Amino acid sequence: MLPIFSPVEELKNDLFEQKQVKVYIKRDDLIHPFISGNKWRKLKYVLADARDSNKNHLVSFGGAYSNHLLALACAGAKFGFKTTGIIRGDEPRKLNHQLFLCQQFGMDFLFVSRETYRNKPQLFFNNFANDPDAYFIDEGGAGNLALPGCAELLDELPEPYDHIFLACGTGTTLAGLAMGAFQRNLSTKIEGIAVLKGADFLHSDIQQLIGTDPKFTLHLDYHQGGYAKTNTEYLNWLFDFNKTGLLLDHVYTGKMMFALFDLISKDYFKPGSRILTIHTGGLTGLIGLNNEQ
Ligand SMILES: *Cc1c(COP(=O)(O)O)cnc(C)c1O
Repeated sequence: MLPIFSPVEELKNDLFEQKQVKVYIKRDDLIHPFISGNKWRKLKYVLADARDSNKNHLVSFGGAYSNHLLALACAGAKFGFKTTGIIRGDEPRKLNHQLFLCQQFGMDFLFVSRETYRNKPQLFFNNFANDPDAYFIDEGGAGNLALPGCAELLDELPEPYDHIFLACGTGTTLAGLAMGAFQRNLSTKIEGIAVLKGADFLHSDIQQLIGTDPKFTLHLDYHQGGYAKTNTEYLNWLFDFNKTGLLLDHVYTGKMMFALFDLISKDYFKPGSRILTIHTGGLTGLIGLNNEQ
């Protein structure tokens, strides 16, 4: 399995000093260039389960810019699985950079309409019922098997923190961390920034995964217009932040960090607070921003 190299670094900023908070970042983006950040943590026990079940063909789902599919393609290649990505939307005339990289790792694609894409178990059944090696992995690697790998991040921390901040898509990574904090009796508050608009559903989705005992906080107003959407104020802020030498993507980690700065400036945190942010990776996504412009 992949060795985990993910140091914690302190971030420096005048705002942090003025508000007397300490901000750190767990560099999960450094785990691997393509098996990026939280996607490795989510896949670790899924891959182990596929192997234990003697399934060597991993089938999963995503949009054309999916960080999950790229992580799966690369991990599949590295650990000896065949991979198929079922992609939402028509087959493009030319693959974008993300799918091109998936293809480099040997992933096969099946492009399906948005309509067909909705029923993933049905799609899997229709296409792979006769393949005894095929193993279903939900979009984004979501599901119960993703939780313990995410919770393990907590065992790597050198010091205690008052808050842990991360970006939320499906909320699976946050669910794993909230479950892990509860199991380890940590008082750390686990706080997620939703990158989708109208993501109230996350509360019940996360409780479905981990029950009502582990506590967590969601910030739903930092989506910047919706999934993968941006605006000038946000992009200016992000491009400025990236000049510090720590790169964030516009879809996930940028929105999380923007939210953190905003919350700090609005005195959300008590002076003396120690805040850990998670760099969940996904940096190839930033290339898509340039190509779309
Ligand atoms: C997939 C992804 C997330 C969201 O993870 P969830 O477990 O679906 O909430 C966050 N950050 C990055 C960079 C991602 O690629």
